[in-house]
Amino acid sequence: MKTPVVDLGCCNLCEICIELAPQAFQINDAGFVEVLNLDNYLDEEIHEAIKNCPKDCIVWE
Ligand code: SF4
Repeated sequence: MKTPVVDLGCCNLCEICIELAPQAFQINDAGFVEVLNLDNYLDEEIHEAIKNCPKDCIVWE
């Protein structure tokens, strides 16, 4: 199964991914973007997040 992964080294915390795919991304207690563990990620939402991430730091793995 494909899982989205965020490279925290380039994430600027703009939260666009969270707006576009709130079921898959959240800000964790440490203040970083976190990918939630889901059985199924909505391809379309993740694709939009990947496409709109200003830092290109979300990939499928
Ligand atoms: S859209 Fe990209 S840069 Fe913005 S918070 Fe999400 S992962 Fe970070």
